[in-house]
Amino acid sequence: MAKKSAVKKPNPADCFGENVFNEKKMKALLSPAVFKELKKTLDYGFPMSKSTADAVATAMKDWAIGRGATHYTHWFQPLTGITAEKHDSFISPVSDGTIKMEFSGKQLIQGEPDASSFPSGGLRATFEARGYTAWDPTSPCFLKEDAEGDLTLYIPTAFYSYTGVALDKKIPVLRSMEAVSKHALRLLKALGNTTTKKVTPTLGPEQEYFLIEKEYFMSRMDLIMTGRTLFGAPPPKGQELEDQYFGSIKDRVSAYMTDLDQELWKLGVLSKTRHNEVAPAQFENAPVFNTLNLAIDHNQIVMDTMQRIALRHGLVCLLHEKPFKGVNGSGKHNNWSLSMDDGQNLLEPGATPHDNMQFLMFLAALIQAVDRHADMLRGTCASAGNDHRLGANEAPPAIISIYLGELLSAVLDKIEKGEKFVAKDASFLHMGVDLLPRFPLDNSDRNRTSPFAFTGNKFEFRMVGSAMSCASPNIVLNTIAAESFDEFATRLEKSKNVKKEASAIVAEVIKNHKRVIFNGNGYSAEWEKEAEKRGLPNVKNSVDAHKAFTTRKAKDIFAKYGVLSNEELHSRYEIYIEQYAKIINIEGQTALKMAKTLFIPSVIRYAETLSDAVIKAKQAGVSTKTQSQLLEEVTFLLESAVKKTAALESELAKAAKIQETVKKAETYRDNVFTAFTSLREDIDALETIMPEAAWPVPVYSEMLFNL
Ligand code: ADP
Ligand code: MG
Repeated sequence: MAKKSAVKKPNPADCFGENVFNEKKMKALLSPAVFKELKKTLDYGFPMSKSTADAVATAMKDWAIGRGATHYTHWFQPLTGITAEKHDSFISPVSDGTIKMEFSGKQLIQGEPDASSFPSGGLRATFEARGYTAWDPTSPCFLKEDAEGDLTLYIPTAFYSYTGVALDKKIPVLRSMEAVSKHALRLLKALGNTTTKKVTPTLGPEQEYFLIEKEYFMSRMDLIMTGRTLFGAPPPKGQELEDQYFGSIKDRVSAYMTDLDQELWKLGVLSKTRHNEVAPAQFENAPVFNTLNLAIDHNQIVMDTMQRIALRHGLVCLLHEKPFKGVNGSGKHNNWSLSMDDGQNLLEPGATPHDNMQFLMFLAALIQAVDRHADMLRGTCASAGNDHRLGANEAPPAIISIYLGELLSAVLDKIEKGEKFVAKDASFLHMGVDLLPRFPLDNSDRNRTSPFAFTGNKFEFRMVGSAMSCASPNIVLNTIAAESFDEFATRLEKSKNVKKEASAIVAEVIKNHKRVIFNGNGYSAEWEKEAEKRGLPNVKNSVDAHKAFTTRKAKDIFAKYGVLSNEELHSRYEIYIEQYAKIINIEGQTALKMAKTLFIPSVIRYAETLSDAVIKAKQAGVSTKTQSQLLEEVTFLLESAVKKTAALESELAKAAKIQETVKKAETYRDNVFTAFTSLREDIDALETIMPEAAWPVPVYSEMLFNL
């Protein structure tokens, strides 16, 4: 392959944010008065006046057109989990038969896409009302560049109905951030901090993904239709040699990652870390953390850019949680913390966490929140794709537990007993501090198995699926955190002795919620038993997990903190359940089609070849034993596969007739999913005995090891 390095890559510092209409550009292009007004909106959420919006729109249009853009789009996050866009050009007719390029403040801040074709979750009337999109000025507009170098202006927006119902994921994110800030501030104030004005949740999502040769992808109907392989026998080698994780990055992959970084930097995404992941052909990208809503938007950009850039390299990027059976699946580690307006991290334990009441209060609040609402945290990570990870003997388990590490656990233990924590109690404290700048240490494999791990100064929620938007998990996380902050703040506000009351709260939380703390191996069978004894929920499939959003508790907390009304919450539940049924239907239909039109015909042809071989051996007067045996084996599996194919077809037909949403999803889970999983066993067994040249689709060893 010819070396491409003749073209020198731009310096990241020069290209960073090149395609973003960021504050720096606004400051340069707007009058000082307009910029000052705009800052009030950006920093404190003040509504924007029409004249400011017009001035910003004009500057933005001139900048975008100057860069060569012809179109703009409001870019939003409907409940499908992906993003939506509808492009309009800037052209506007002039009476002399020519055009001019136009873009008003109104076009910038509000759009009106048709809402009726988005999933409605039983709120048909609401969704058939007009839908509006409104610019979220805290997420800057950007130019997206396609493979031809053509640019379109993207305006990140919220999406809501004529009646003000949130039809998207961004609005509840913003609402939940406000709830966190409000109650975290009250808690800080009650603890004596009167200077902090704003608390912002921060997020750093680590994105795992697979890359495969485009040619293989295009030859597999299952990958094209469902994003995962519905068939495929395990290759002789998987990930057991542990030679992929952090392994040296192949040239082709590194070229891809370099292009990806360039593109992300231009879009203002703080892409930071890249490495090989556990499974062959699996990789990870992680950004520097950012304000939560921006980090969510950026993660959507990352997922989109990963897929687009891959095609330019003759590759396909798979974001599915489990593209390949038998090797590591992909997650999205959701690193979450709280930042004060002076930049200080609220979850930073400092050198002496046992003396740091502020840290302990926030830690205790999160422990209470996670234990109390474990069902919702589990539910928010539920999807057909993620079912292959959570609870399906793969990391992390479906049981929510918190890893705190030995030091913090020891600190909390002392508090519960009312004893004083003496640093020398834990000799590893000194070792830790000497060796590393921060503790508790997140350097062991042990806590890799925890779904909710405290990693130094943030919580890492590891259950989130790689293909999901991280909006929903963070809506839940923010809301449940806000509730505990609110409760503690209320108690402290009423108390005459704040210090004593604060200690009492922490001790109480440990007593009532220590069952959720677990520092051991979360993948072990013993933990499952132990967790059951502790009464921790262990919900293994997404249909059941979603039910966490139908409880009184869920309805009350979302309504109380103004994040989702009962109606908004219910529509989301219905949509996710519906989506599950649809996905399993697509998988079932794809498996059926592949069995009927690819696998069964290929096996019949092979059986024919074997029959010929038997006849010819007989004619030659030699033993037919080997040929006959193989023919018997193939015929046996073929008959079984044909029967299972018929069963799958009948289950698909039955499930399709069911009307009631939950019953339908359960039927797809119990009858359709199991039908094609069972069919897979025969097809995979056939794959292992058939000649590779006669197999109609690329196999695992090719897809996973040929990059
Ligand atoms: P690991 O794989 O060991 O978990 P990485 O470096 O891959 O570590 O990812 C850690 C992620 O956590 C990064 O995206 C980083 O930006 C993020 N992070 C670090 N500090 C914070 C914070 N205060 N709030 C949110 N995310 C954070
Ligand atoms: Mg990582």
